[in-house]
Amino acid sequence: MEVIGSVGRMQRQAAVWRAAGLKIAFVPTMGALHEGHLSLVRLARKRGDRVVVSIYVNPTQFGPKEDFARYPRPRRRDLELCRKEGVDAVFAPSTLYRSDASTRVIETEKSLGRCGRHRPGHFDGVATVVVKLLNIVQPDVAIFGQKDAQQCDVIERVVRDLDLPVKIVRGPIVRDRNGLALSSRNTYLSAEEMEVALNLPRVLRAVKSKRQMTMRQRERMARERLRRVKGLTLDYVEAAGAYLCAAVRVGGTRLIDNVRITGNG
Ligand code: AMP
Repeated sequence: MEVIGSVGRMQRQAAVWRAAGLKIAFVPTMGALHEGHLSLVRLARKRGDRVVVSIYVNPTQFGPKEDFARYPRPRRRDLELCRKEGVDAVFAPSTLYRSDASTRVIETEKSLGRCGRHRPGHFDGVATVVVKLLNIVQPDVAIFGQKDAQQCDVIERVVRDLDLPVKIVRGPIVRDRNGLALSSRNTYLSAEEMEVALNLPRVLRAVKSKRQMTMRQRERMARERLRRVKGLTLDYVEAAGAYLCAAVRVGGTRLIDNVRITGNG
């Protein structure tokens, strides 16, 4: 497995593979890898001849009061996991931005609402780094997790609008045995906070099972139930297409989740 730190070297490696007719499948991450990330790597394996994982904690998608500094960075373990999964190259730059960088990618529809409303500028940072990464890794396919549903919406729109020659694939949400969607941020949770956090998937699951309800009714019910949970602050419950999406905060940790509604909604 190659571990690549420079943009030029990654671009040259990608060019060599492409010239040999090999299909590149790409999984962008911020590291602190868990089974959710690894499920995307396995999807990539099926979709491409060469698999590239990027590990980069992207500063431009964190707000000034967010957890950029304390975001976990277990680099050795991440590389070991990638090696075990048969990843061909890990792209792990120390920085991706020049100090005088003056260009940003701003998506102006899918970025509104939900996390966009609660994390101003977040999706500008995401869109910008993803376009940069796609230009560096030059993949045929890029895999993103449905856990970050709005991120998928934004990226699909950016790729469409900018005619980027890449296919975006969504991988399903991977959960722990209690139903909590895996996230690198779950490691911030104390045992008590974990109990509180479990209400997020529990409420979404309960609301999903209400066969007769419309999406609006489900939204309202999820909102009411989550607001009643002690120790949990609701950021939003909001429908987006067939998905009911929610974000909450437990202690200092922000958690997001979504379920697909297949009933009346
Ligand atoms: P992150 O490292 O949090 O930026 O996530 C990197 C990629 O992994 C993103 O496409 C996420 O949506 C995806 N991902 C994170 N958690 C999960 C999960 N529990 N199940 C599936 N994909 C996930």
